[in-house]
Amino acid sequence: THFGFRDVPLGDKQTLVNDVFHSVARRYDLMNDLMSGGLHRVWKDAMITTLNPPRNDAPFSLLDVAGGTGDIAFRAAKAAGSGFQATVCDINPDMLAVGRERATKQHRDHQVSFVEGNAETLAFADRGFDAYTIAFGIRNVPRIDAALREAFRVLRPGGRFLCLEFSTVDVPGLDKIYDLFSFKMIPPLGRAVTGDADSYRYLVESIRKFPKPNAFAEMIRDAGFARVSWQALSGGIVALHSGWRL
Ligand code: SAM
Repeated sequence: THFGFRDVPLGDKQTLVNDVFHSVARRYDLMNDLMSGGLHRVWKDAMITTLNPPRNDAPFSLLDVAGGTGDIAFRAAKAAGSGFQATVCDINPDMLAVGRERATKQHRDHQVSFVEGNAETLAFADRGFDAYTIAFGIRNVPRIDAALREAFRVLRPGGRFLCLEFSTVDVPGLDKIYDLFSFKMIPPLGRAVTGDADSYRYLVESIRKFPKPNAFAEMIRDAGFARVSWQALSGGIVALHSGWRL
């Protein structure tokens, strides 16, 4: 297998990540449900509740980075009013293609648009967005500090940064079950549904390597954000980090 992930150089890491999402794009949404037992919906809804987009016609522009098939953007659009606009940015054209089909099916082409791009070098003007979200995406970005600086740059003053990411389970007992589940169950499940166990082995490994929530909060502060806070969801399986550009 080509996934000896720990030692790959940063440039190659992006290539491996792209292969992962190319191979799972069509089955991605189904896998999310199977692997999380539907919990990813709860976590995403927690993010939307915290985002709290206006319910009236007040203009509100969201940039959802590593937005994949658009899950966060569509959920936010459902919660928001008619002034809501979302731009989904993702490095993978296969994920975006699935997202565009969903937008058409849901009659949200006018509200949700899909743009190919890299979180480390966003092709958007300074201070253009009211909110920046990234859900289960930043872990895959080779240079997290660069992505955080870009998030800060494209937000208007007063704009909000929200990041949902797998984190560190710190509930005794649950941590053992979680380890067992992720190492023994996820790769075979991935193979059964997408024909690709390596991609899901990578997924489990990348979760282990991601910074602990306090360290990640510090990185968000280093990028310039203020009032940085985070909350653990589902015993720390996931963390929701928040910051403001003041
Ligand atoms: N946010 C969506 C969700 O929660 O359903 C998709 C999350 S998916 C686990 C991670 C996404 O990150 C993939 O669609 C992948 O293509 C994208 N990605 C990986 N590296 C990226 C980068 N450097 N810039 C932008 N997107 C990236």
